[in-house]
This record gives sequence, structure tokens and C-alpha cells, in this order.
Amino acid sequence: MPPQLRLKLFGTPVRLPASLWAWPLILSLMVVVGVMLWLRSHEQASLTAQREEMISDALSLEAQLNGRLEGELAQLGMLAGLINGQRLSSDAFSTHPVVLDGLRRFWVSVTWLSEAGRIRAHQPPEVNPVDGTRRQLSDDGGLTGHLSVPLKGQLDRPGGLLVARFSAAALLRQKVPWWLASKYDIRLVDVSDTVIAATVEGPRDARQAWYRVGLGPSLPDAWLELSARDRVTPWWRTLPMALMGGFLCLIGLASVMLRKQMRSVTRAEEAWRTEAAWRTAMEDSLAVGIRARDLEGRLVYVNKTMADMVGRQPEELVGLLPPMPYWVPEEMDQSMTRHLRNMAGQAPRGGYESRWQHADGRIVEVMVYEAPLVDAQGAQIGWMASVVNITERKHLEERERRQMEAMAHHARLTMLGEVASTLAHELNQPLSAITSYNAGVLNALAGRTDVPEPVIKALQRQGEQAGAAARIVKRIRDFLTRREPQRELCDLHAVIASALSLLKRDIERHQVEIVHVSGDALPPVVADAVLIEQVVANLVRNACDALSLQPQPRRVRIAVGPGEPGTVRVEVADNGPGLGGQSAASLCEPFFTTKSEGMGMGLAICRSIVELHYGALEAHDAPEGGAVFSFTLPTRREGDEACDDTCDHTGEESA
Ligand code: ADP
Repeated sequence: MPPQLRLKLFGTPVRLPASLWAWPLILSLMVVVGVMLWLRSHEQASLTAQREEMISDALSLEAQLNGRLEGELAQLGMLAGLINGQRLSSDAFSTHPVVLDGLRRFWVSVTWLSEAGRIRAHQPPEVNPVDGTRRQLSDDGGLTGHLSVPLKGQLDRPGGLLVARFSAAALLRQKVPWWLASKYDIRLVDVSDTVIAATVEGPRDARQAWYRVGLGPSLPDAWLELSARDRVTPWWRTLPMALMGGFLCLIGLASVMLRKQMRSVTRAEEAWRTEAAWRTAMEDSLAVGIRARDLEGRLVYVNKTMADMVGRQPEELVGLLPPMPYWVPEEMDQSMTRHLRNMAGQAPRGGYESRWQHADGRIVEVMVYEAPLVDAQGAQIGWMASVVNITERKHLEERERRQMEAMAHHARLTMLGEVASTLAHELNQPLSAITSYNAGVLNALAGRTDVPEPVIKALQRQGEQAGAAARIVKRIRDFLTRREPQRELCDLHAVIASALSLLKRDIERHQVEIVHVSGDALPPVVADAVLIEQVVANLVRNACDALSLQPQPRRVRIAVGPGEPGTVRVEVADNGPGLGGQSAASLCEPFFTTKSEGMGMGLAICRSIVELHYGALEAHDAPEGGAVFSFTLPTRREGDEACDDTCDHTGEESA
């Protein structure tokens, strides 16, 4: 497609054709053709008018010449009448006043011919009687014409002929008025185009307009010819045509220059459009937002990336003055201070961090680099900023920081584990010794009656507590040293009872009522009893802690029942303050705790243990108040490795 020039006409973009440059030339050519046609028709009209006028003049002159010749013919007729009537002799004829008058007036000669054709009289004589020289017929030397009148003989028979010769030149000289002679070349010509007499020397110009008219019976075989002296100028030789020629040359030149100019403008426009399209494509493909502001701080340009960053359209933003709609409402003062600082040209050279608010409400962290915006003359007209979205980077940094903290905690916990493991190892021996000695003392005192009953009871209690302490230490060692869960068939009720016995003191201290509800005939569960006991113990301990500040009644309900097909569900519910809307995921975050001396690892460990058993730990607020924690465990399936010895964790394990 040929390039086209675009213009704005009354605000509407108009596409101009590439041939626009030829329009003035075409219009000029049309005008010139019109002028030519008009000149041609004007020339034709002039020629017609000239011809009509010439015909009229020729007829008028012919009438005058004929009138003159007819007058002369009448004179000659009168002379003939005299000859016929008075029987003039030759001598009387020669001296007759009519003859002399005629010769003086117009006639060159007058001849009386007899009926036999012989000259009876001739005036003036051809030979001068004085000197014997031969006379010229005409003073003008031109050709002569003649008029003749027949004479009557006796008895009305032809009696000869009276002939008067006259000078054609003299005829013209006398009868052609000056104005006519100045307008036309006038000639008398005979049938063979021989000029008899003329008002001008020389032949007629071929380009002259002319007209001939016969002179009639008075001068037969002669023609009066008028040739116009003024020639009608051909239309193509008129001044308007010369002017039109010059005009066409100028228009042609102007058209060539216009075409050249239009081509260069079109090329420049195409180049500009290509460049603009490139620039837009590049700006839109940038991951960096671009923002231009004038010196007042008004947004004059934003690219798509920048608009997307704040969830708006570029058209919405362009033209806005601070405060900007993407400023965080709570940080307006801070944003305005920063804006004024930037407008004063004191924006940090290395960029600055800012917080903006996306249209959907989320916070966008950005890094802004400001630079002066200058025009073609180098004068500053505003500020140009590139904006990098660093929200993701900030999140990553935050996550990294948290991970570092978690790793530090883990390290401390590992160390704690080591210490606990060592402690458990070291305490095992003394606790075994205490248990053995206690058993020995009780055996020694058995059967004796002098020992007071309270002493025996106290020793029995001491043995129990030492045994419990040994079991706890053993479990801690097991927990710390065990890598993989030891799955076996478990009696869940026994596991729960064992966990409760571990917490006996806490339960009593907080005066919590424990309700243990068991479903009917549950299928056996495959699990690591020690780990599950830890889970139950932790959940019950947390419930007791939550209930500690609650007024009575303080109740913990432990229910075991079928869960999803193939699972058993254990639920620990309390009537404490509840979770306050916290989700299980956030509560199970490592180190999340609301207790002043809590570690925040209990639920995290519980979740890990439950997930090791392919179950899920859930938590929610109970509708009637309090918190409900639950977990599922898989039941025994066909082909599972059976554990013959159903685990017994009722506290009988010896140290
Ligand atoms: P810790 O007991 O050391 O705080 P946990 O991971 O066991 O760590 O518990 C994390 C947090 O969960 C507790 O600090 C407490 O705020 C909350 N929580 C756990 N159980 C309950 C419950 N039954 N009722 C209310 N809040 C609880």
C-alpha cells in the first residue's frame, strides 16, 4: 500500500492520498484548457464578424463603383443620343462639350466606331498633332476598362458603337474612401486573377482574409476584391495564452516541488510511526514501570507496566496530581513528604523504596529511580522515574529471614535434644537404682508389723514415682533416638490411658475433669504407640493449660471413633477460650506460642507424628466454645504386618 499523509481536519484525522500533489496541476490544466477553448471560440467569432463586415463593406463599395460607372454610362448614352439625333460629324464629335467634359472628368479616351468597326472619331488623338509623339492611354499607366453604348443607324439598324475608356485606378482613387482604404487592400481583378487596379502595390498575402464581388454589367468580367489589413490574431498567439504558458510552467515546477516535499513528509511520518510503534512495544514489554511527571508533579506519562503495577489503566493515571490514588492511605503524610523532596530534586541518586497500594488493596513494594526530564533544548520539564516492583523480592527476603530464625531455633532445639538425651542417659542409672533399692526395702519390710502403715505407703508411692520417672526418661530417650516410627497394632484406649497417667499431676493441679469416650468395637490401629501417646499427651496438656485460667467447670473430652473409611479418629475437645480464629496451620507453625514459657513446638511435633502415620491433624473452635483438636490414624488392613503383642502402656512397664 502506498504511503499516505494524515492530517487533522477539525479534529478528525483524514487520510490524504499520495497523489495529492498532482491536484493543483490537474486543476490548473483544466483552467488552461478552458481558457484555450474560450480563446478559440473568441477567435472564431472575431473571424466571422470580420468577414461579415468585409462582405458588407465590399457590397457597399461595389454599389458605389457601379453607381459611378452607370452615371458615366448614362453620359455616354446621352452622347450616343446626340450622335443619333443630331447627326454629328467626326469633328463636331471631337469638340463636343460632352466629350471634352467626359475626358476631363473620367474618361481616358472616347472612340466612335462605325457599324463596320472602323474608327470614325477618337478623342483625344493618339498622336500628338504638335510634336507627333504617341500619347499614353492612361495617366496612371494601369489597365483601363471601357464602357460602350451602341449607336443606331438608319431605320433603327445598328449604326456603330461608342466606346469610352476609363482608368480603373482612377475609379478606385475617386470612389474608395480613406477609411476603407486604410482598413482593406482593395483590388480590381479580372477572371484570370490579373490585377486591373489596386489601392496597394503587390499581391495579396495568403494569410489575409479576403472577399470578392462581381462588378455587374457595367464592368463584366471584373471583380472587386477586399483583403482585410487587420489580421485576427490566432488564439494560440494571444497574450492570455502566453500568460497561461508561464502559469503552467510555474504550476508544474510547484507540483514537482510539492511532490518532493510530500514524499519526504510521508517518509518522515512513516519513520516516526515505526519508531513510535517500536517505542510503545519496547515500553510495554519492559518489566520496569516508567513514569513521567511535569514540574508540578502531574503525571504526564505512564507505561503499561507501571499502570499494571497499581492495577489501573494508563488513561486513569495520566493528568493526576498528588495525592496519587495508589498511595497507601495510612502513609499519606509520608508519601507527600517524599513527593515534595523528589520535586525539589533531592531524590536519592541510588533510588528509594516506597510502598504503593494496588487497586485491589494489596501492598506493592517498589524501588523508584528518579531522573530529570529535559526537552530538546536541554531545559528541565519534569521528572522521569523507572519503577521496579520488589514485592516478590521482599517476600523472599522475609521468608529467608524467617528460615534463618527457624534454623537458629532448630539448632538450639537440637542442642537441647542432645542435652536431654545425655540427661536421660545419666538419670536412667540413678532412677533404676532408686527403684531397685525401693523394691528391696519394701521386700525387707514385708511381713513386719512394727513398721507403720504410712511408711509402707510412702515407700510404695516412692517406688511408683521412681518407676514413672524412669519410664519418662526412657521415653525421652526413645523419642530422641528413634528415627522411624515403629508401627504396630495398638489399643488406642490403652495409649490414651497411658498418656493421661503421664499427665495425672497436671490434671489434678488444674482441677480438670477428663471425659474419655470410646466408640464401640473399634478396629485395631497400626501406629507407633509411644509417638501417639506423645500426641495425645500434648493435646491434653495444651487443653489443661488453656483451661487453667478458666472458671470451673474445666472439662476435657477425649473421644475415639471411626473417621474416614479405613481410619480411626481421636478428638480432644475442651471448654476453654478457644483458638480465637487461628487456623490449624498457623498454630502448628514451629515456635508459635502464646504462652510466656511455651516453646511452640508441641503442635508442630504432633502434626509431624500424625503425618508420619498418614493422618491429618485438624483444629477448630467448637460451636459451644472451646477448642477441638483431632487427628486420624489408619486401621489395620489385610496383609498388614500383625503385632501379636498388643502394646500395653498402662504404666506397668518396669524401669
Ligand atoms: P506451646 O504449648 O509451647 O505453646 P504448642 O505448639 O503446643 O506450643 O501450642 C501452640 C499454641 O497453640 C499455644 O501457645 C496456644 O496458644 C495454642 N493452643 C494449643 N492448644 C490450645 C487449646 N486447647 N486451646 C487454646 N489454645 C491452644
